[in-house]
Amino acid sequence: MRQEAPTEMTSLTIGIPVYNEIDNLPELVRRLDAVLSELGGGPHELLFVDDGSADGSAEWIEGAAERDPRIRLVRLSRNFGHQAALTAAVDHARGDALVLMDADLQDAPEAIPRFVAEYERGYEVVYAIRVARKEGALLRACYRLFYWLIARLSDTPLPEGSGDFGLLSRRAVEALRLHREHHRYLRGLRTLIGFRQVGIEVEREARHAGTSRYGFRGLVRLALNGLFAFSVVPIRLATLIGLFAIGGSFVYAIYVLWARLVLQQTPQGFTTLILAMVFLAGVQLLFLGIIGEYVGRIYEEAKGRPIYITDKVEDGTEPRPGAKSV
Ligand code: UDP
Ligand code: MG
Repeated sequence: MRQEAPTEMTSLTIGIPVYNEIDNLPELVRRLDAVLSELGGGPHELLFVDDGSADGSAEWIEGAAERDPRIRLVRLSRNFGHQAALTAAVDHARGDALVLMDADLQDAPEAIPRFVAEYERGYEVVYAIRVARKEGALLRACYRLFYWLIARLSDTPLPEGSGDFGLLSRRAVEALRLHREHHRYLRGLRTLIGFRQVGIEVEREARHAGTSRYGFRGLVRLALNGLFAFSVVPIRLATLIGLFAIGGSFVYAIYVLWARLVLQQTPQGFTTLILAMVFLAGVQLLFLGIIGEYVGRIYEEAKGRPIYITDKVEDGTEPRPGAKSV
């Protein structure tokens, strides 16, 4: 526990990645405004990261920023993806604490005071654990399976069912900024930084307007990033299966020799042979692919490209590209 409770409410940055969310922005700002004025303290900032929207979202935010000094816009030079946009928010946040949330109102702004309460209790990382997802049954089952899998395979114990929605203290933000890997799985990195962390249950609402900007491929990519960036179990499986195959062939060799020498049988089994060959060739190709995943990731990191590039930062400061070599 922190020794003395902060006497005054700290200033919050609300970091929001935006990709074609024009229909959600007015309602989002309205609800955030209500929550933040309830909360007191400040000055707070609404830090929007426009991830290359083509529907006028960035222009809407620019207009809103002229009327409301709390609103800031970091505009990326193209669409870099959700995780990169979140990273830009982490890099540009100025508040004492940073809340990361989606623009589509699936993350209810009304949960923010609960995060702040935990923060004031001394937690440096507060994250939402999703209960009652309002998504399709199939997608829900996939999510459940993925979180279950990654919780078991990962070298760091990642909390199940937590998304990016949550609060980070300034220290946690600074720690997160040290992680510049390209295939990002922010909720995993957040666990990695340590400090006192707590998860609170928050209902995940349905999207306010529009459809998911992720798409199935995006989700699969994120899941693979989570898996490969936080676990080497997939490669180890190759060793395990290899040992298993060697053990199996040993036993079979003994049987074959016995059949040949003692029973005087000529070994038969063309079908078995083909099946065994095809099976093992399949296993080898599979693990070649898995190793390829890791090699590809090494290649990506070796290139050292920036995680995102800013077009402009709407707060008078110089644009700050994401390629920091810390
Ligand atoms: N988003 C983004 N870049 C992208 C895709 C999404 O900045 O390439 C933003 C999007 O505007 C939203 C958040 O990331 O604020 C989460 O996206 P979405 O709601 O589509 O994901 P889902 O909730 O379906 O996982
Ligand atoms: Mg969403």
